Amino acid sequence: MKRIVVWFRNDLRLSDHPALSAALKDADEIIPFYCFDERWYVSSESGFAKTGPFRAQFIRESVADLQASLAKLDAPLQIYQGSTVQALKGLKQAFAFDEIYCAEECSFEELELESAIEQAGFRLKRFWQYTLYRKEDLPFAIAQLPDVFTSFRKKMEKLSKVEAPLPAPNRISTPKELKPTILPSLQDLGLEAPEGDSRAVLSFKGGSKAAWQRLKAYFWEGDHLKAYKQTRNGLVGADYSSKFSPWLASGSISPREIYAEIKRYEKERHKNSSTYWLYFELVWRDFFRFTALKEGNHFFRIQRKPKYPKLPKLEAWRLGETGQDFVDANMKELLHTGFMSNRGRQNVASFLVHDLKLPWFLGAQWFESQLIDYDVCSNYGNWTYVAGIGHDPRPDRYFNVAGQADRYDADQSFRKLWLSEID
Ligand SMILES: Cc1cc2nc3c(=O)[nH]c(=O)nc-3n(C[C@H](O)[C@H](O)[C@H](O)COP(=O)(O)OP(=O)(O)OC[C@H]3O[C@@H](n4cnc5c(N)ncnc54)[C@H](O)[C@@H]3O)c2cc1C
Repeated sequence: MKRIVVWFRNDLRLSDHPALSAALKDADEIIPFYCFDERWYVSSESGFAKTGPFRAQFIRESVADLQASLAKLDAPLQIYQGSTVQALKGLKQAFAFDEIYCAEECSFEELELESAIEQAGFRLKRFWQYTLYRKEDLPFAIAQLPDVFTSFRKKMEKLSKVEAPLPAPNRISTPKELKPTILPSLQDLGLEAPEGDSRAVLSFKGGSKAAWQRLKAYFWEGDHLKAYKQTRNGLVGADYSSKFSPWLASGSISPREIYAEIKRYEKERHKNSSTYWLYFELVWRDFFRFTALKEGNHFFRIQRKPKYPKLPKLEAWRLGETGQDFVDANMKELLHTGFMSNRGRQNVASFLVHDLKLPWFLGAQWFESQLIDYDVCSNYGNWTYVAGIGHDPRPDRYFNVAGQADRYDADQSFRKLWLSEID
């Protein structure tokens, strides 16, 4: 009799889940497990909550959705809060198990948690499952990963292929004595519920069900994918871009599932540069994760200090009070909704680094706290890229924010939405 714990991390779904599929093959019984680990609910050295209320709420909804999907298969998700190591020890006492299967992570804090688990005597088996391309399908050794995105993309397009997603299981055997557990509230996690804002691009709700609803609305009902390349630099509204990022970051939908839908859309509706471009953006996402894997801790390029003082310029940036209206409008959107467009992110990051001359990682840590779609590799990868210290053939990457505002918000509708003084 073999029992395996499937430890859900940023992969909160049942379909296209290699660790779960392997566990179902290898074990007689599995124990689905999730822990709201205390490490993610503290402050970083900048003083910002590592997980702010917007993302905490989204993750909570995603876990609830996973719990409901598992309950339909009579497999109660074991939800814990606090230390993952302690939770696993408790679980082991109640239900002796042999091994833990989980997603493979590649960044510092996530790996630190894995070593703590291994040091406590548990056996972990890791599965690379966050990217579009599998690690084993890279056409080069990870040490030879190109430093520049374009050569990475060209090699992947030419020499690799995207595998089809795995189906969700229709049966899961768990120990008979496994009981349903209770989802912690936001208050239990030390956070207040965020206030809703009618100006938000979308009312984001966590979980696979909502992820697929969004895909259906964006691809099939609204037919927006056909114009993605032209609209993707937008700033206002639900449909200028896919808004898949929060669900990708929490793993409620996988990039391979999205890719399969792009291919279906190309067959059934339109195939054009826009359908290609959404794939292209997913390759950017892969690039940052594989780069993090290659570089290890150097990826973060952080000179850590134990604590940072509250810097007035940082506060003004964070609250959208710098006096630069395009930056302020974007920062207010982030503050009040937990989301910002890609165009906005590039501009506010450039402004913090190149105009305010503040340390880039303070901005990155505020994004980490605030973004619903925070993903360690995409966030730190993009920040170092904009700061000119990542992998960019143009190290002087600087956005002329006023010029960008004229170009992308010519009628000021975005600034009017967020700044009452522009009415
Ligand atoms: C400073 C900075 C920080 C960022 N932090 C994050 C982050 O923490 N999490 C995150 O998911 N994205 C991050 N991004 C990338 C990008 O801004 C968001 O993925 C995008 O705005 C999400 O909206 P969307 O899903 O509608 O994107 P779409 O334009 O519809 O793109 C589809 C998907 O492609 C991926 N993608 C698109 N652009 C990028 C990119 N530049 N880098 C990596 N993946 C990309 C995302 O998964 C996205 O959901 C950051 C960008 C910058 C400049």
